[in-house]
Amino acid sequence: MKPIQKPRVKSMHLNDKKRRRIKKTPVIVLVIVLILVIGGVLISNGSEKGSGVEIPLTPTPVEPVTEGATSSYDIDTPESLTAIINKQRPLAAEYVPNDLVVPTIAMRGNISDDEQYVRQATATALETMAQAAANEGIELVLGSGYRSYDLQENLFSSYAEASGIEQANTYSARAGQSEHQTGLAVDLVGSDYECYLEICFEETSTGQWLKEHAHKYGFIIRFLQGKESITGYQYEPWHLRYVGTELATAITQSGLTMEEYFKLVE
Ligand SMILES: [Zn+2]
Repeated sequence: MKPIQKPRVKSMHLNDKKRRRIKKTPVIVLVIVLILVIGGVLISNGSEKGSGVEIPLTPTPVEPVTEGATSSYDIDTPESLTAIINKQRPLAAEYVPNDLVVPTIAMRGNISDDEQYVRQATATALETMAQAAANEGIELVLGSGYRSYDLQENLFSSYAEASGIEQANTYSARAGQSEHQTGLAVDLVGSDYECYLEICFEETSTGQWLKEHAHKYGFIIRFLQGKESITGYQYEPWHLRYVGTELATAITQSGLTMEEYFKLVE
């Protein structure tokens, strides 16, 4: 500042033209100061208003999805709670989770012995979620949990027999390709069995409740609408996959499938 001011002071004595220009300087400085002050007041008001609105909209802070955030999750080991199993990433025929338990939750009447089981982490989350739903008048019923390789093989065969292999492929997994073999996936329904295993389940009060709350208990809706080409399956609002609350919340808020979230597809 000083080296600029000095020649200006000197120039006041040189001629009128320069003197007039210099006389204007305090006015210009005053205007700039005013603009800065008014601008500052407006910005501070604006930010206060902004944060005042944002706080109630985001009651649970969630870690932003950043590069590298996905690298802390193990998606490759079958035992990992965040393993990704799909048609391209099947499980071995002999894979059986070693911590299968029967959760304390209502079960579909004719559920098979296998399907009553889920992994311990899934069971705990399922029980907590069922309790929370019950507090809001919704009874969650377990339609299907763990499925062994053999059970899945039998299921696919019977579906293929009924509707053809191509059609069966869109709604049923082949043996080894089903998340149900991980013990981390569940098919749920309300106690009224309305729209069980049907897309209209989305509109039921149970379906709506799950869509809104499941992520808080560590579950994601695994096969999303409009993402059939990525997941390989039709929209299944009843099929929930346990991945833990942190990842479930991040994936749900991203609106992405697990494959997209972990950049397994273009
Ligand atoms: Zn399912």
